[in-house]
Amino acid sequence: MAELVYLNGWIGSFEDAYISVNDRGYNFGDGVYEVVMAYDGVMFALDDHLKRLAASAAAVEMDLPWDLQQLKSIAEDVLVKSSIKRAMIYIQVTRGTAPRNHFFEPDIRPNLLVTVRYAPETDPAMYREGVKVITHPDFRWQMCHVKTISLQANIMAKNRARRAGVAEVVFVLPDGTVTECGSSNIFIYQDGVLKTHPANNKILAGVTRQYVLQVAGSLGLDIKEEPFNVSELFKANEVFYTNTVIEVMPVVNVDGHVIGNGKPGPVTTQLHQGFITLRESLK
Ligand code: PLP
Repeated sequence: MAELVYLNGWIGSFEDAYISVNDRGYNFGDGVYEVVMAYDGVMFALDDHLKRLAASAAAVEMDLPWDLQQLKSIAEDVLVKSSIKRAMIYIQVTRGTAPRNHFFEPDIRPNLLVTVRYAPETDPAMYREGVKVITHPDFRWQMCHVKTISLQANIMAKNRARRAGVAEVVFVLPDGTVTECGSSNIFIYQDGVLKTHPANNKILAGVTRQYVLQVAGSLGLDIKEEPFNVSELFKANEVFYTNTVIEVMPVVNVDGHVIGNGKPGPVTTQLHQGFITLRESLK
């Protein structure tokens, strides 16, 4: 078993993989990406991730020279070669390599990177006890639905959260609207209603978010994909965030406000269990 890199057709180790300093991802953060999890050697929701990758590329006017089937075979091939069963697959497409210039030529060929690594383990105590988060001004751009590799704002905010001793940062717009987190989507549960921000340009429409909403629907929860504000967040019975690697993480404290009784709520736990059952059934 070995962690592997695929780079424009070449496959080898992280130590041996090189890309030009003229790569536009390196110079401008001009690229898009996906993170996919594999369980027992099978990628979960790969088609959803590749569709979103294509949508992100289209949104930044990048023509992909591969169709989704080709991308799928490449990712599956690197995963199989790595022999890693519980893997984190990173797929990145930058606009290509050219001398640094804001303008790009129409015939530039994108660089495709796929890496397969052992999936990071999340401390089980975090799921059992829940985590703390802080809010932070949403100082990102107007195209948060694009999964761009330009993550400067997210990195700043997430590291502020870490320095504050909490697990994640919750972005809040100037009018008090809660959008999403540094690298996850946020949900609140209050009096039978599950709320999360609608999938528009203000958030990344998470693949996990979509599957969790599906599970919530099958549990008969009242789902509202509509904006909520910080005071609703503080007062919610339950709060949790979702992403591909973490799945569903209970939040028990926001900016020092205790959520519910300070323990992960039953709905959050049910949704996480339901999510795991769903992804196992799709293998
Ligand atoms: N929102 C942001 C800003 C993210 O970076 C991510 C994932 O990295 C998500 C939401 C969750 O997306 P997904 O569930 O597809 O991993």
